[in-house]
Amino acid sequence: ADGAPQDDCLFCKIAAGQIPATIVRETETTVAFRDINPQAPTHVLVIPKAHYRDAAELATAAPTLAADVLRESQAVADEDKLESYRVVFNTGSGAGQTVWHAHAHVLGGRGMQWPPG
Ligand code: 5GP
Ligand code: ZN
Repeated sequence: ADGAPQDDCLFCKIAAGQIPATIVRETETTVAFRDINPQAPTHVLVIPKAHYRDAAELATAAPTLAADVLRESQAVADEDKLESYRVVFNTGSGAGQTVWHAHAHVLGGRGMQWPPG
């Protein structure tokens, strides 16, 4: 887990600008873009530009970068003036992860239930 880009990774391609996305924020190390299938009025994905397969690997191999993703998630919520919001890292297929490049979902703009199901 050295963060090297993966040829077959959708989010590496979005990070490299090879696949279009509606980008809402970008830093040296991260990109935030709108989810193609939004589950809330605000549904933004925040990714590290470097490739790690999930949040667990990101946290272990690159904790400073993991903090960048969290900080950017908060910045997305601030930009959309969300008073309440949820930041979710689906980790593993049993939790609903389908794209194997670490990403935070920032969800807000509607009421939410807990537990999420
Ligand atoms: P996961 O299920 O892995 O936690 O989340 C993957 C997310 O990526 C899903 O919410 C899905 O809608 C989103 N997604 C999948 N393909 C694309 C794409 O090509 N562009 C964008 N913007 N989002 C995508
Ligand atoms: Zn990737």
